[in-house]
Amino acid sequence: MSSSSPNRVKAANENLAAAIEEINTVLRYMAETGIRGFDCSEETLKIINFWGRSIDSPSETLKDIQKDLGDCRRCKLSAGRKNIVFGSGNPKARLVFVGEGPGNEEDQRGEPFVGAAGQLLTKIIHAINHTRREVYICNIIKCRPPGNRNPLPDEIKACVPFLNRQIAAIKPDFICALGTVAAQTLLETQSPISKLRGSFYQHMGIRVLPTYHPAFLLRNPDKKREVWEDMKTLMKAMGL
Ligand code: URA
Repeated sequence: MSSSSPNRVKAANENLAAAIEEINTVLRYMAETGIRGFDCSEETLKIINFWGRSIDSPSETLKDIQKDLGDCRRCKLSAGRKNIVFGSGNPKARLVFVGEGPGNEEDQRGEPFVGAAGQLLTKIIHAINHTRREVYICNIIKCRPPGNRNPLPDEIKACVPFLNRQIAAIKPDFICALGTVAAQTLLETQSPISKLRGSFYQHMGIRVLPTYHPAFLLRNPDKKREVWEDMKTLMKAMGL
């Protein structure tokens, strides 16, 4: 034991006493205002956990996260990729777009949303009076799946912690989840995108608006109207 141990134990006890005092104060306040219970679901605890961390610890930068990702081999998609598609745009963006995963052109160039769906996403971003450089664009997974198939659960599980760290580093006010995979992954739900779109939900304490994926819009142009409605909802919430 070092000579400073008794001091450290004393400090830990004081911290614990202060934390208990604070919990006591909060519970008393809740009781006084008529609250007789509270939601301690997994979802709520996750949000509270994130709040605590965001206040106490200076978050890592996108560069730190990219360095840690390195020449990632954490899942089998690494075998077939040309480039890891980390994400691009403003590291302090107020708005982050999250897609599904890189396609062929994104894999070739190492940049998200640069193919046909990307061109439509660029138009959507311009329609809400932003540029690609003002927002941040990334995906649920960072390596192209063979034949552009949907990412598998183990691939998502390996990759999403890096996306969550990117979100924690950027600290956006809003996330726009593009399509089924992004919306269902971020919101941890199996509900269809047709039901999810157009309303706000939470991920890591951040407001998430799901909408249709631009690639889906290329195949179903009649759905563009609904995406425009969603973008108007987003702009209103952002005060634009
Ligand atoms: N589709 C996506 O979901 N992401 C991209 O980066 C490109 C196409």
